[in-house]
Formats: sequence, C-alpha cells, structure tokens
Amino acid sequence: MICIFLGAPGSGKGTQAKRVCASRGMKYIGTGEILRENVAAGTELGKKVKAILEEGHLVDDSTMIAIIEEEIKNEDSFLMDGFPRTVCQAEALGELFGKYGKNLGAVIFLDVDVEEVTKRILGRFSCPSCGKDYNVHIDDIKDKRCSVCGGELLQRSDDTEDTVRERIEEYSRKTAPLKEFYEKKNILINVRGTGNPVKIFERITEALDNKN
Ligand code: AMP
Repeated sequence: MICIFLGAPGSGKGTQAKRVCASRGMKYIGTGEILRENVAAGTELGKKVKAILEEGHLVDDSTMIAIIEEEIKNEDSFLMDGFPRTVCQAEALGELFGKYGKNLGAVIFLDVDVEEVTKRILGRFSCPSCGKDYNVHIDDIKDKRCSVCGGELLQRSDDTEDTVRERIEEYSRKTAPLKEFYEKKNILINVRGTGNPVKIFERITEALDNKN
C-alpha cells in the first residue's frame, strides 16, 4: 500500500507513521528526518537546508520533489510523512506516480488543533542514541535520561518557540490546503489525533483496513 500522512507539525504524524510502517512492513519515508540526517552529516544538501530548517521555513519544492523521486521510484509499499507539503509538491507526486505506475492508497489526516500541537512540540524530547521519543506532558523525564539506554534526552533544534510559530504559519499557509486537495480526490481519511496514542493508532489501523 502507498500512503500519505498529513497533519500539522506536532500532530503525532511521525510517531504514528513509524508504528504503522512497523506493523504493516511498509517503508517509512520522513522528509524532515532525511533533511535532518543530511544536516547532521554535513552533506551538500544538509548545508543548503540547515538555516531553512532552523528558521522553520519550507525547503524549495524542486529540491524536495527530487528527494522523493529517489525514495519512491523502486518501492511499492511505503508511507510518506512530511511530503507533500505544498500543492505544487502534491501535483508533482501525482505525476511521479503516473511515471512509475503507482497508485495512492490512502491519505490520513491527523486532526489536532493548533494550541494542542504547540504544547506538544515544546514538550517533546528524544534520545539521540536509540531514537526513543518522549513528551514531558506524558512521560516522567525529570532526569532527562532515556529509560531504555540511559542516553541524554535532547530537543530538536527547530522545536523552539519562535521556530514553532513559523512552522505552524507555514503549515497553515501552504500545507493545510492539501486537505481539500485530497478531499476532492475522495481519498482523504480524517482521524482524530487527540487522546491516548494507542487509541489513535487503532483508529488509523481501522481506517487503513477499511481501505484494503
Ligand atoms: P518535519 O520533521 O516533518 O517537521 O520537518 C522538519 C522541517 O523539514 C520542516 O520544518 C521543513 O523545514 C523541512 N521539510 C520537511 N519536509 C518538507 C517538504 N516536503 N517540503 C519542504 N520542507 C520540508
């Protein structure tokens, strides 16, 4: 199956998308993660996008479309988290699907309001050693240590208050219209993204099972 996860920054897309991929054997394609790995490794792409990520702006469409083409062209079962983020990217993705003979199976929209996502983002931490995610509003992490491997928990460098405001504005201006874009194609599934994360995962699983 080919699937897109849509939702505001901090809506829980990344966490849920990885769970869905693990349970269904799908490839996880997170464009934010790909960009952050490039920044950390100091590649040409990383140098080009570092400041853009830190300011909370979007990377240009043609760079992102080129990345996604490489990621998807040889894959049949994958989930995209963070792509598309503009109508231009969504249109280009449709063309890539035509070029490589692929069909979009479902678009999951994780519905969480702006106040809630801001609170979530500012509270999130992760362990750079093993990748486990935490949130101060849910987990007990007073000592800022990973309960799995003991690593020191860190915040993402773009999870600061100013950057979060900018990322949410970028989302409202450029990404939110994708909801209507996919609604018109009759492929969008609205999933309530609040409450217990296990329940949210169950809602997504049920939605995807009904599509199969
Ligand atoms: P994320 O991890 O999905 O929140 O993405 C982190 C950052 O990476 C975003 O704030 C953007 O700067 C950049 N980014 C990720 N995906 C895209 C995309 N499809 N188009 C433009 N910028 C992106």
